[in-house]
Amino acid sequence: MTIRCPACRAENTEATCRRCKADLSLLFSLEAERERVMETAKRALREGRPDDAYAAAWHAQEIRRGDDAVKLVALAHAARGDFAEALRWHQSLQAEPQP
Ligand SMILES: [Zn+2]
Repeated sequence: MTIRCPACRAENTEATCRRCKADLSLLFSLEAERERVMETAKRALREGRPDDAYAAAWHAQEIRRGDDAVKLVALAHAARGDFAEALRWHQSLQAEPQP
């Protein structure tokens, strides 16, 4: 996992920024939490629990919005039968390219 330092923009794999020595441990914790809830969402989709998948995917995109989380939110909406919302989320993906 790499984290971009919010202070100096350096990419880091350690909890202390290699360039400016900022403490990035909270950011690493958040990113780990995001990965955990993304896995929860994927598992819930595979197991046919779309409401749980939606809750977890939403949590992930609240921690940090990204194509991966937005796709899961769209999939969860589709799995719940809400195709209008699924399409809306899918279109937001194309409208806002993520870095
Ligand atoms: Zn830095």
